[in-house]
Order: sequence, then C-alpha cells, then structure tokens
Amino acid sequence: MTNHASHSSSDVAGASVVPGGHRRVLLLKPRGFCAGVVRAIDVVKIALETFGAPIYVRKEIVHNRFVVNELAEKGAIFVDDIDEVPAGMRVIYSAHGVSPAVREHSKLRGLKVIDATCPLVTKVHVEAVKFAQQGYSLILIGHRDHDEIEGTLGEAPDVTQVVSNVAEVAALEVPDPNRVAYLTQTTLSLDEARDIIHALKEKYPNIVGPHSQDICYATENRQVAVKNVAHQADLVLVVGSNNSSNSNRLVEVSRNLDTRAYLIDNSDAILPEWLENVQTVAITAGASAPEVLVQDVINYLSNHGFDTLEEVEVMPENVRFGLPPEIVQAIAAAPSQPVPVAQ
Ligand code: SF4
Repeated sequence: MTNHASHSSSDVAGASVVPGGHRRVLLLKPRGFCAGVVRAIDVVKIALETFGAPIYVRKEIVHNRFVVNELAEKGAIFVDDIDEVPAGMRVIYSAHGVSPAVREHSKLRGLKVIDATCPLVTKVHVEAVKFAQQGYSLILIGHRDHDEIEGTLGEAPDVTQVVSNVAEVAALEVPDPNRVAYLTQTTLSLDEARDIIHALKEKYPNIVGPHSQDICYATENRQVAVKNVAHQADLVLVVGSNNSSNSNRLVEVSRNLDTRAYLIDNSDAILPEWLENVQTVAITAGASAPEVLVQDVINYLSNHGFDTLEEVEVMPENVRFGLPPEIVQAIAAAPSQPVPVAQ
C-alpha cells in the first residue's frame, strides 16, 4: 500500500501555551468508525425508526460501550443469546457475524432476522464454507473468545482449528498435511498474522489461503497510520473499548515500536502521570469508537497544556457499504415511512 502523509494543523481550542515550547497532539487519519460499523449502527437506528422499539440485538452491535448505551437508550435490547429474544420478535445480528447454528436457532423460534454482519466478515464465512466443501482442514487464525471467531468457526466446526499465536502452530495435527487452508479474523495485527502464516507455510508447504487477505482495510489502515506516526510521539492514546480487537491491536503496534500506548474508552481513563514529560501525544481510535469520544480526549489534552493540534492523514479512506436486504425490503414494505439513507 502507498502511504501519503499530509498534515494540517490548528490551535487546540482553549489551550494555554506552555512556556518553553509547544506540546502537540497528532490526530491520526484514518481513525474511528469503519464502513462496517457505520452500517451496523445505521441498521439498528433505521430498524428502531421503521419498526419502533423494542428491537433486539444479539451481542454488542459493535464493540463499543458508548455506542451500545446510546442505542439502548433509543430502545435496542442487547442479549447474549437468541433464547433471550421473545418468540416472533425482531432480532439484529451484530457486525461480527453469527454461526449457522444461531441462524437455525432463530428460524426455529420464528424470529424476524436483520443481519448487520459486516460484508468483510461474510467474505471470510464464504471462504470457510468453500474450503470445507473442497475437503480442506481449516486453520482459523484469531482470538478464540471473540464473537467473530465464534461465528466463522461455526461454518465448519468439524474441520476447523483456531490458532492464536505462532507457538500453537507447532501443536496442530491434521489428517492430510497436503490439504490444509487458512483464514484469519478481520481485525488481527498484520505483523502477528504474517508471522503465524509464515509458521503455517513452514509446517504445511502446500497450505492455501484466501485470494485477498482477510484482515480488513480498516484494520490495516489504522495500523499503518500508527506505524507511520508513533515514532514522532512520546505517547499514543487509542480510543476504544477493551473488548475491541482492532483497538487492542493498535496499542500493540505502537508498543512494538517502543512508543508507550494506552487503550482508553474516553478521557476519564487518562491518568495525569501519563502526560508527565510528554511533549507529543498521538491519538487514534478503533473502528468502533465514535468521533465524539476522540474530541473528548482532545479537549482533555487542550485543558492540560497541549496547545497545538495537527491532523496527520496517512491515507484517504472512502469505503461505504449498502444496507442489508432485510432493511431495504422492510423500508420498501412500509411506504408511509420516510426512507432513511445510510451514511
Ligand atoms: S473492522 Fe473491518 S471487518 Fe470489522 S466491521 Fe469494520 S470493516 Fe468490517
């Protein structure tokens, strides 16, 4: 990927100038919401507007506490299990996707399903089904406890094994070492995934993988932005919730470059001692973190002596996804409602 770094700067509103030199905030771009998260949040909002509350959502629609709380206030009810949704009601699947077993369960309970799975997660599901049908043993690189892995694993559970690090590759056993395929979670560290794939290729020289990498554009772009800018900063703050995989990876990318980094939900999590002797703070945000929380962190820093803000655009990002067919059809079937447009 080609990176073009461009800079724009302005004074941080309300900041006082620190004697002896400016303290800078570098605001990374791209940061924050990806196309899959925008789409998933739009789906819940449009469903609430079109059908009225309550609307049930299986799992957190995206891994961000602020977003979930905001939608819950509008009438979304978040549940961990399909059994918690009253029979016949409407349920939305989260951006992380679900296994076929969950789909079947919903059908048996007569639920009206709206699928907000990110199309880039669906791509990995389709690949899993294809490889399993072709008789491959499947190695899924990812984090076992993540909702996305639970869903993808469920496509072919009998032939799929999950590995989370290079050490686990050594323990793998498959019926035919010449018939092995790998896939990855969409929100992994590019570097870690590369190392695991390398170890798999050493162990299974004939292993096959996806046509294009499964790690999504948003995960990659945010990591590349941190890699480009971390060396200019004394501290990197990543806005995101602690169960957000791609946000955690951004912290790791920075720390691997020896720049101190912390994951914070919002400015309340910042400890004043983090800023001692810090001249430059870089801010980024995970794909599920809303911009309002980034602005909250900027305001905090401006009130703590950081007087200059530079936005550092590492690459442009203009991806958008269309709404799922269930929402498009539902809107069409309710002509009296104004047609909302996803942003
Ligand atoms: S992080 Fe990537 S895979 Fe996940 S919702 Fe966003 S675009 Fe889709």
